[in-house]
Amino acid sequence: MPMLELPGNSSTEKSEGQMNERARFERKLSVQTNGCWNWTGAISGTGYGNFSRNGRKAILAHRFSYEISKGKIPDGLQIDHLCRNRRCVNPEHLEAVTRYENYIRGVSPPAQNAKRTHCIRGHELSGKNLIIRAYGSRRCRKCENADQVIYSRRRRAVRALRKARSRETSGPGPELVKSGERIT
Ligand SMILES: [Zn+2]
Ligand SMILES: [Zn+2]
Repeated sequence: MPMLELPGNSSTEKSEGQMNERARFERKLSVQTNGCWNWTGAISGTGYGNFSRNGRKAILAHRFSYEISKGKIPDGLQIDHLCRNRRCVNPEHLEAVTRYENYIRGVSPPAQNAKRTHCIRGHELSGKNLIIRAYGSRRCRKCENADQVIYSRRRRAVRALRKARSRETSGPGPELVKSGERIT
């Protein structure tokens, strides 16, 4: 079970009720391998988690999570999911943005990418095969690993080539092009 980083955890000002609220909240998280904390409680019609607080109005679970870990959401700001997973309540995946920013992010190429369920080669973008980077960019792990193999092979080849060239140029090697000769 994840422990939220709570500001001022000294519990001096916090009533018993609030503590219980947090404990109830944490019981409804399911930590995913990609880092998302999926809400296992009620889900609203728009796909966000709903959390009923003690004796207060129900609140969207990700907003509750943001407020208890990062503080009050500034007036007029919306909470954007960097991971594009509406059920997620991991405060590290949440950012307070203006409505305009939220809209732009929703239609931008990374947001479009976020809606894809499979990579360009048809691997499923979920579970262990999904890499989420800062700002929510998503990558297929199989393709990432394959690319790494190609990159390191290429790097080795370039290094070998450089070595070979430096060997050629150092020392009195054979004159490859005689003056006056044309290279075709
Ligand atoms: Zn997330
Ligand atoms: Zn792939």
